[in-house]
Amino acid sequence: PHGLALLRDPLLNKGTAFTEAERDALGLRGFLPAHVLSMKDQVERVLTNLRSLPTDLEKYIALNSLHDRNEALFFRVVCDNIDEIQPLIYTPTVGLACQRFGLIFQRPRGMFISANDRGRIAELLANWPYPAKLIVVTDGERILGLGDLGAHGMGIPVGKLSLYSACAGIRPEYCLPVMLDVGTNNEDFLNDPYYIGLRQKRLSGVAYDELVDEFITAARGTFPGVLIQFEDFANHSAFRLLHKYRDKINVFNDDIQGTAAVALAGLFSALRVSGGKLADQKVLFLGAGEAATGIADLVVSAMMAEGVSEAEALRRTWLVDSRGLVVKNRAGVTDHKLRYAHDHAPIGDFLTAIETLRPTAIIGVAAAGGAFTPEVLQAMARINDRPIVFALSNPTSKAECSAEEAYRHTGGRALFACGSPYDPVKLDGKTFVPRQGNNSYIFPGVGLGAIASGSRLVTDEMFMAAAHTLAYLVNDADIQQGSLYPALPRIREVSAHIAVAVAEVAYRRGLATTPAPNDLMAFVQSQMYDPHY
Ligand code: NAP
Ligand code: MN
Repeated sequence: PHGLALLRDPLLNKGTAFTEAERDALGLRGFLPAHVLSMKDQVERVLTNLRSLPTDLEKYIALNSLHDRNEALFFRVVCDNIDEIQPLIYTPTVGLACQRFGLIFQRPRGMFISANDRGRIAELLANWPYPAKLIVVTDGERILGLGDLGAHGMGIPVGKLSLYSACAGIRPEYCLPVMLDVGTNNEDFLNDPYYIGLRQKRLSGVAYDELVDEFITAARGTFPGVLIQFEDFANHSAFRLLHKYRDKINVFNDDIQGTAAVALAGLFSALRVSGGKLADQKVLFLGAGEAATGIADLVVSAMMAEGVSEAEALRRTWLVDSRGLVVKNRAGVTDHKLRYAHDHAPIGDFLTAIETLRPTAIIGVAAAGGAFTPEVLQAMARINDRPIVFALSNPTSKAECSAEEAYRHTGGRALFACGSPYDPVKLDGKTFVPRQGNNSYIFPGVGLGAIASGSRLVTDEMFMAAAHTLAYLVNDADIQQGSLYPALPRIREVSAHIAVAVAEVAYRRGLATTPAPNDLMAFVQSQMYDPHY
């Protein structure tokens, strides 16, 4: 493009940073004010503007319009200010953005494929002008802990792919967010004049499965080798789709597998403080959905890797769902929970389950805000010298407890990780710096490693390798201040290491389709997009 068209192309636009020479050569004379800014000046201006906005939602909107105008500048801002910007373009703000998506909608991003497009999805995908290598797809049925947000859930694939580019340097033109709009059962949205999606109840059964299958086939036909990440599907679809495709093609579900790896890494870090092996822990989950069983499965595999039997590892892993402790012969024990349905008397509430089972770790992934009550936390502190407490539910309103509560009610002994960002906590003269057990430590690097190696599958072994790598990158200073994860500004370094670990698995297992390079780190780094003009 040239002239005005160039200024309108977000992948090429530099705005006021086009140099005098570029302005002459590219037909830009007259379209730009005289003063030429550097990218650094532009970044400062963006930040100044952003910080003057009164609400996070307005900041989200401002960042999105920057994304639509000038990708390089958007990603420069994100990369250099990840601590400040990630919560604005991803959780928790993206939750609010999805709830208001119809109102704040400006320009479409990614592709909206609806149930009405049956039979012509390949045709639709062929309209996409870029060579996609990575698709994040949702049907919007379980957006964060907010439930069915239908087509408004598009904010999640968009936000996740921004993090892929910012945190792991996946080139923006390789990233395709997809909303598979099969309707919504959200009555408020069905009656909302600004709801952007199909105004009908969700497709289900065979018709649903066929639509997903047509999409997957079409995506792989249009973009050969494309990596497909399932995101925020409700758990009746999530497990089924993952199991249907995972041994055949390169897909993964971040809510199940990415969450598992980030939580396992947090456990490894916590054990550096409390001592002991993973196989000695007893882990009690609040929640028995995608996150809980995903984490549980990986924890069991990791315990087995330490030499204990599967039966023993399972005995150390317990779930509490909306009906209480998951036990044999109880109602509501669906397939994905069966593995953890132990022979035990029923227990109705979480506190009694803690008193009875005496876990060393509790992991909250039930989107039940406030469920880690002072009594729960005090019980954990009574039973354990260093209780492991992970409150992973999102967004902040759904967190099981705040960082402050976790430290206060355990006398500062909790080894704490959270799903939402919290400020440092001062208690008895000590400052704790809680860090987010956010999947964004894991999925960008896993995606980068899978794409760089051209892996034909994404395996649990890769997520295990990612967890070990992430935990290994936590340094002693982090641990000293109670941080179980590395500082977020190190994320590109973290992602590069995870990508190397993932690619190593791909090459070792014969899954890679690109030739093995001599220096895997250099190879991975050479593929990372660094936003500049
Ligand atoms: P999900 O598949 O829908 O599972 C939710 C589970 O919570 C279900 O098993 C449900 O029980 C259970 N539950 C609901 N209310 C409960 C209550 N009051 N007491 C006990 N259990 C209750 O959702 P998910 O994908 O696992 O996600 C759950 C939460 O984790 C969300 O808030 C999500 O944002 C968060 N998450 C955070 C991260 C992170 O990076 N920190 C990663 C993934 C997920 P039933 O089975 O009986 O319905
Ligand atoms: Mn998710």
